[in-house]
Amino acid sequence: MFSWQQSSWESFTASFENLHHAQIVTAPEGYGLREFSLAMAQYSLCGNIDSDGNTWCGKCQNCQLFAAGTHPDFHVICNDVESAQGRIAMISEYSYRYQDESVRGKTAQLKKVIPIDHIRTLIDNFVQRPHIAPRKVGLILPADRLNINAANALLKLLEEPPADSLLILLSSEPSRLPPTVLSRCVQIHLPRPGHEQARAWLKDQIDSEDIDLALELTDGAPIKAREVCRTELLQAQKEFLVGLAGVCRQAVSPYQLSSSLNKLDFEEVIKWLQGFILDVIRWKTVGRIPWWQASVEERLMPDRISGEKLFQVYDRLCTYRRIARGSLNQELALDAIILSIQRTVQ
Ligand SMILES: [Zn+2]
Repeated sequence: MFSWQQSSWESFTASFENLHHAQIVTAPEGYGLREFSLAMAQYSLCGNIDSDGNTWCGKCQNCQLFAAGTHPDFHVICNDVESAQGRIAMISEYSYRYQDESVRGKTAQLKKVIPIDHIRTLIDNFVQRPHIAPRKVGLILPADRLNINAANALLKLLEEPPADSLLILLSSEPSRLPPTVLSRCVQIHLPRPGHEQARAWLKDQIDSEDIDLALELTDGAPIKAREVCRTELLQAQKEFLVGLAGVCRQAVSPYQLSSSLNKLDFEEVIKWLQGFILDVIRWKTVGRIPWWQASVEERLMPDRISGEKLFQVYDRLCTYRRIARGSLNQELALDAIILSIQRTVQ
C-alpha cells in the first residue's frame, strides 16, 4: 500500500462489513489506482481477515490462489490495451480468461473499448455461487472504456446484484462513464501525494537523475514518473517539448515536429501538449519559467501571449482527447494543433 493511500484504505476496511456491492475507484493515471483496487480485491477474497481487520491474512487458500493468479472467484475485465500492455502482470494474467489470447504481447492495433461479450460472460459467472471465497469479485478497467452496449449490459449487475458479489470499477476519467453506471456505484476517490512524499517514494524506487523532471512532466504522479524514468518515453517527451518551444520561436518547422510523433500514442501526445499550454499559462500568470525554456537564449515573451487564446487552445486539446477514440485523422489533427499553438505562443 502506498503511503498516500493509507487513509483511503482505512476507510475501506472500516466500512467493509456494510460495503455497497459496486465500488468505483477513481484517481488520475499514475497515482496507484490499479494497486489499490487489487488490494481491495484480495482483501474481499480472503477468508481469514486479520484480527485488526486491516489486511488479508496471506496464508489461507484464497490468498494463495489469488497470489498464484488462479483464484476461481476473481474476474478481471479489461480492454485489449490493458491486457496486452498492462502495467501490472497479475491484472493481465487474470484478464486472459476473458480475452482473445491473440492480443498477448501485441503492441499495435489493440482495441481500447471493452466489448459487450466480456460483460455477458462476467454476468454468467457472477450468477453462480462463489467456488471457495466468501464472495465473487469482478474488476473492470478502465471502466470508462466500456462501450455503450457493454455499459447497458453491466446495469443489470448493478441493479440486481447476485448474492455475495463485489464489483470494482476503475477509472481515471469517471466523467466519461454513463451517469446510469456512475450513479449506481459508490465512489472512492484516491488522494494524490504531496510533492515531497512523491519524491521520497521515487527515490526509494529508482536511481535516476531525472526524478524531478519526471515528476514535473507527469504532474506529480509517482507511478507514472517511475514508468517514464524507466522507459524511452521521458527522452521522447523531453525532445518533443524542447522541439515545440523551438516551433514557437520559429526555429523548428511544425511539420518536422509532427512527423516525429507518428509512432507515439495520440492521446499521450495530446496530454503533453496540454502540459505545454499549462506551462505557458503558469509562466504568464505566476512567472514560473518552464524547464524547456530555461536552456535557450532566445526566450518567448509570455506577456505578449494572449491568455484568452491559450485557454482556447487548451479547450481544443480537451476536445481532441474526448474524440480521440473516433475516426479522427490523427496526423492531420496534430498538424493543425501544433500550428495553432505556434500562432498563439510566439
Ligand atoms: Zn487470506
